[in-house]
Amino acid sequence: MTKQIMVTGGAGFLGSHLCERLLSEGHEVICLDNFGSGQRGNIKPFGDDSSFTCIDRDVRIPGALPSVDRIYHLASRASPADFTDFPVEIALANTQGTRRLLDHARACDARMVYASTSEVYGDPEVHPQPETYTGNVNIRGIRGCYDESKRFGETLTVSYKKEYDLDVRTVRIFNTYGPRMRPDDGRVIPTFVTQALRGDDLTIYGDGEQTRSFCYVDDLIDGVVSLMCADDLKHSVYNIGRENEQTILELAHEVLDLIETDSEIVYEPLPEDDPSRRRPDISRAKTELSWEPTVPLKDGLQMTIPYFNRRM
Ligand code: NAD
Ligand code: UDP
Repeated sequence: MTKQIMVTGGAGFLGSHLCERLLSEGHEVICLDNFGSGQRGNIKPFGDDSSFTCIDRDVRIPGALPSVDRIYHLASRASPADFTDFPVEIALANTQGTRRLLDHARACDARMVYASTSEVYGDPEVHPQPETYTGNVNIRGIRGCYDESKRFGETLTVSYKKEYDLDVRTVRIFNTYGPRMRPDDGRVIPTFVTQALRGDDLTIYGDGEQTRSFCYVDDLIDGVVSLMCADDLKHSVYNIGRENEQTILELAHEVLDLIETDSEIVYEPLPEDDPSRRRPDISRAKTELSWEPTVPLKDGLQMTIPYFNRRM
């Protein structure tokens, strides 16, 4: 059945893939975005689709919103490169913005999914990270505006569920990559791929022994949509990401293997509070959402590199 669905952050990397998926399923999609880190080009392909509308607005700013059946709240800058320049916007998008969306979901009796992050685990002391792990976050550090606001955003969702019986679910998204990321986004895969395509040296922060687990965007979107559509869930928070963990140095070599380039590897200082290890425990999503990722890193990179090549 056709539903009216709002996607905040719909012009961003993940949001635009989500809009595309929902439109392909026949839904009416309303994107709300301030185009801070989003790109108009990401939603240009949907411009002629009468089922798609876009509200150019900041999620922190009050204003009437259309009645919808479902809300995906993704609006927040997500690149660590933005944490220094936009800490207030980030902190408030995930707290003030989340409150506005929760109130709106209540007003129109909509189901909501809130996009949280593996960053709620901070620099984890438990490995891999299950949903029950409460994390190790430096609340006053450089990542605090993001990590701690996502944590409070989650607290708000739990509170609205408890007090108002609102149907709100949280997805903790682990590192995801793919086409439509900004080439200058600052996150590691767009950075390494554009460096290799330009013949610039790949900048590894620290010794490159820190780990991440990278999920291709199509897998991630499948997981997020499964979470929204599931009925009778046992829990209200789910890790979504890929379990295969690798060092950043291994990632750099993987990129260099796929792109013919004169680039070499150079080392730069590790930023403050950069998590040393990260890998999701996705048992809950596997069991309850019947979801698991399918795209190996090499295949995902091969689908991503041509996008950055075109953007150059
Ligand atoms: P992105 O920067 O590409 O997209 C974010 C979108 O939100 C952009 O279009 C931006 O313009 C919009 N936005 C930001 N602040 C806003 C505001 N105040 N008002 C209205 N719009 C605003 O990032 P992304 O990777 O697509 O991330 C989307 C969501 O997923 C974020 O909530 C992020 O925290 C979460 N997430 C992403 C990842 C990942 O690896 N991509 C990992 C963990 C969590
Ligand atoms: N990183 C790196 N070089 C870069 C960009 C990032 O070595 O040019 C490292 C970064 O220090 C971190 C990892 O890659 O350890 C992932 O960084 P990203 O910003 O993509 O995401 P996050 O740190 O939020 O997981």
